[in-house]
Amino acid sequence: MNNILVVENLKKKFQISGGLFEKKEFVNAVMDVSFHIKEGETFSLVGESGCGKSTTGRLITRLVDVTEGKIVVNGKDVAQAKNSELTHLRESVQMIFQDPYASLNPRMKVKDLIAEPLVIHTKLSKEERDKLVYEMLEIVGLNAEHANRYAHEFSGGQRQRIGIARALITKPKLIIADEPVSALDVSIQSQILNLLKKLQKEFNLSYLFISHDLSVVEYISHRVGVMYLGTIVEQGDKEAIFKNPLHPYTKALLSSVPIADPTMRKEKMVLKGDIPNPKNPPSGCTFHTRCPLATDICKQQIPKMKQINDKQQVACHLVNEN
Ligand code: SF4
Repeated sequence: MNNILVVENLKKKFQISGGLFEKKEFVNAVMDVSFHIKEGETFSLVGESGCGKSTTGRLITRLVDVTEGKIVVNGKDVAQAKNSELTHLRESVQMIFQDPYASLNPRMKVKDLIAEPLVIHTKLSKEERDKLVYEMLEIVGLNAEHANRYAHEFSGGQRQRIGIARALITKPKLIIADEPVSALDVSIQSQILNLLKKLQKEFNLSYLFISHDLSVVEYISHRVGVMYLGTIVEQGDKEAIFKNPLHPYTKALLSSVPIADPTMRKEKMVLKGDIPNPKNPPSGCTFHTRCPLATDICKQQIPKMKQINDKQQVACHLVNEN
């Protein structure tokens, strides 16, 4: 399988203060992120809020500018792409947002909302666009009767179906789904996740799935990257990471997931302290201020990402190859 997306050493600094005569201050939202996604694969980024996972998604779609690093989509580095190249990128990479209501113009009919990317990116006639829109409504589990209504007339789950239809209408290869089910009731969440899985098979889609919810990530992903303070600390095969987490932060995150079977017990690892301020991240391993295993070297040296076995890569001084 080919790589649809390769991200290498991606960095993003946001200026948060400073002007002409003032000292500039920056926040390191993404510090050094590398991963890839293959055709037809779901790679999830998971971590606490503020870890940089949503910013990573927005960098890939170039909704925000890249400070440093590579974003290779279909073999082409788009990290510094401008104008016409960006239009092409937005045809092949689309986003699904957490709150479909906020991302859908309330004054537009559903058929126009779904057709809008075709108006921007193609030269199709109105009849050709309408035909595609009506086909797409059926594909996402809506129907022709919904076409002339407005977004506020729909439930949260139906609105997310409209958001998915809009994202798929230009036939993208890669979808970035940023917390796409976290605003929905649990019963509706599974319908949307199953729809995403069905569409992936049907159209050989690749997903970058961004979520703080480990149960959702376990259900939808093939591979997973665990983010902490702007970096990936562990990544690899979903089963391997959920069965045998190696990084202390991954262990702590997974220990907080409730188990359905009350006869099974697991040791809960509670992290001390809060996530440090990304404006002034800790030296060495950025997790050392909260890590129960931290040693002196952790405060001094940034751990490199290492291939620990054929399924997992981990950035921790104390985790080594078998
Ligand atoms: Fe903990 Fe040190 Fe490993 Fe960081 S490098 S996760 S501080 S043991």
